[in-house]
Amino acid sequence: MMAQNQVLVVGAGPTGLMLAGDLAAQGIDVMVVEQRPEESKLSRAFAVQARTLELLDARELADPLVATGVEVDELAVLFESLVIDLSILPSRFPFLLITPQSETERLLARRATRLGATIRRGLTVTAVRQDANSVDVNLLDRNGVTTNHRADWLVGADGVNSTVRRALRMPFPGKTVVSSVMLADVQLTEPPETELTFDRGSAGFFFVVPFGDGWYRVIAWNRDRPLPDDAPVDLEEIRDVLFRIAGTDFGLAEARWLSRFHSDERQVPRYRNGRVFLVGDAAHTHSPAGGQGMNVGLQDAANLSWRLAAAIHGHGPARQLDGYHAERHPVGKAVLRSSGSLLRLAVAETPFWQRANWVIETASRLAHVPDRIIRQISGIGLRYPRPFASHRLCGTRVPDVSLIAHAAPTRVYAELRTGRFLLILPPQSSHAPMEAWRDRVSLGTSTEPGTTAKLIRPDGYIAWAGDRPDAGEVRAALARWCGPAKLPAPIRRGAHV
Ligand SMILES: Cc1cc2nc3c(=O)[nH]c(=O)nc-3n(C[C@H](O)[C@H](O)[C@H](O)COP(=O)(O)OP(=O)(O)OC[C@H]3O[C@@H](n4cnc5c(N)ncnc54)[C@H](O)[C@@H]3O)c2cc1C
Repeated sequence: MMAQNQVLVVGAGPTGLMLAGDLAAQGIDVMVVEQRPEESKLSRAFAVQARTLELLDARELADPLVATGVEVDELAVLFESLVIDLSILPSRFPFLLITPQSETERLLARRATRLGATIRRGLTVTAVRQDANSVDVNLLDRNGVTTNHRADWLVGADGVNSTVRRALRMPFPGKTVVSSVMLADVQLTEPPETELTFDRGSAGFFFVVPFGDGWYRVIAWNRDRPLPDDAPVDLEEIRDVLFRIAGTDFGLAEARWLSRFHSDERQVPRYRNGRVFLVGDAAHTHSPAGGQGMNVGLQDAANLSWRLAAAIHGHGPARQLDGYHAERHPVGKAVLRSSGSLLRLAVAETPFWQRANWVIETASRLAHVPDRIIRQISGIGLRYPRPFASHRLCGTRVPDVSLIAHAAPTRVYAELRTGRFLLILPPQSSHAPMEAWRDRVSLGTSTEPGTTAKLIRPDGYIAWAGDRPDAGEVRAALARWCGPAKLPAPIRRGAHV
């Protein structure tokens, strides 16, 4: 008999690992297959945004990850023209964390395995087929042997060149925006004084950021030397760009990783195809400007995991699964636009740049502009569309406020570590009518005076809110979002919770 899992995740990058851990935490039988035989040591993405840290906090991973990196609380978003102060962010993490992607992956892989996910490395998915009930894949091992594997659901987290996407003939429209960008992780004997350093000139642009362990990421682009991605990079080429723009090479010394890449802007029109979902770079790819790539992928995973777990457990309506595309496709589209604008500014010819600089500097004097940008880039300002006639809080990110749960003080993101919905009722409310959802919903009481009840999704967004709701209204919201009550409890009509 063919082996079968409830969910098969293709790709053990950050997105696939986060998703697998979340599903395993909900008791789902999940297997990850990864073509690389070992964990990646590549630094790749280095910026972890505040909202991503909040989601990692809800998985007990934020504090260990923060311990591996450098906290940056000032960011030149539109290069030197617009410097914004991240310390004003209303978050437990009012900064940008600089840490190699390999650290994030290492923590996510440990968690997924600890929670019961199986990660099988050295297996490449080569073909995908699906019918109404299941998905079949071909797995090629390192000895050249192909086996078949079946799953109820499949998630393609297999990166920008996704085999899953291609096998299902899902289009990936878009274009290359810039090519021949050099990337180097190096030692610098005379590093810049600022934490994030960007500069540009007629020769091209460069970007320098410290990892905090003596190594620096340098990204450099030479306008006069377009080469294919597979052309080797040598330090002299990077040194030349630095000298021509900054007048120094910052004491460029040893390199541990050199690479050349091009930047595409592409997005699949549909994130779901039957029993298959695409997440992370498999669904969207864009310029690294703004440090969004890995962050958007991790947030895709957080959005899909609770929906898929609920569908498999038979909790909540089937249409909730389509909410993944409905909510995350527009976010991906907005990131393509914003990171693409930043990159186009970086590569623009000097006269255009001078005009753009004037516009940006003028705009940055309007106080609300940096605030809006900082909330967008950090992910803190993201809100999902609110259903018609629903409470104004629906779809918004829940702040990490204090509450009482299990008769003890706690806070929202600590309580979300159960991976369940969280119902927060006003002080002096009775939880008794909601006990029948205990297997799916954590119950808490607000420590703030007020009359608003909130039902929070496992990914930290408000599903439902009501001012002075009666028990029937709260139970109706629970049934709508989390499925029917396990043990029907009597409802006292009109009684406020
Ligand atoms: C050189 C480089 C530099 C980057 N720098 C930055 C940056 O500075 N900031 C930023 O935000 N982002 C950056 N990115 C992008 C960032 O790394 C990605 O957004 C992030 O890795 C996406 O995570 P993912 O899990 O969706 O995909 P990936 O990390 O690409 O993971 C996909 C995984 O699937 C596996 N896989 C692929 N095909 C198969 C198959 N058929 N069968 C089994 N396994 C398969 C791959 O081996 C891989 O491990 C960079 C990317 C590159 C390549």
